[in-house]
Amino acid sequence: MSVLPEVIAANADYAAEFGDKSELALPPARGFAVLTCMDARLDPAKYAGLSEGDAHVIRNAGGRASDDAIRSLVISYKLLGTKEWFVIHHSDCGMEFFTDEVIRGLLANSLETAALGPDGFHDVGTGPGSAEGDYIDWLTISDQETSVTEDVRRIRNHPLVPSRIPIYGYIYDVKSGLLVEVPSATAAGAAVSD
Ligand SMILES: [Zn+2]
Repeated sequence: MSVLPEVIAANADYAAEFGDKSELALPPARGFAVLTCMDARLDPAKYAGLSEGDAHVIRNAGGRASDDAIRSLVISYKLLGTKEWFVIHHSDCGMEFFTDEVIRGLLANSLETAALGPDGFHDVGTGPGSAEGDYIDWLTISDQETSVTEDVRRIRNHPLVPSRIPIYGYIYDVKSGLLVEVPSATAAGAAVSD
């Protein structure tokens, strides 16, 4: 049973109440961007108090500073004027539960959805899989504070990112909804004023 009819119906309801959101400007009104995980439990609009038009939200598995996330951040400041950035990872992230080696092995075995047991993921498919997974850096996480700090540092040191933009590092706690600062990350992301 597809979710398609539910999504289309929900969208019709949303559009019926769209109102003055049709007048929103393209550049984010509050001038900031958030890089965070795609985890379904995280709703950046709610946890950071965003309305439509307020901020850029860039999401991927883990909220990692991949080349593509940096592409979006560069567009965010260079063309659309954001002035502050957040990198927000979270507790209980799925990216902590496997390594490159594990996901490559699972994909080499089959393209079925793997099962998660007490000792990690295992494959339940019959194949064929593909070795293409060997060519992807999956950017898995072994420690959240380390991953946030590394990602903030990578963005900070990128040649296309100006030193004036402060980058804040946080971990969202899925048990409390709170954003917890990672001081080493925020320190690494501090702006350098001219
Ligand atoms: Zn996650």
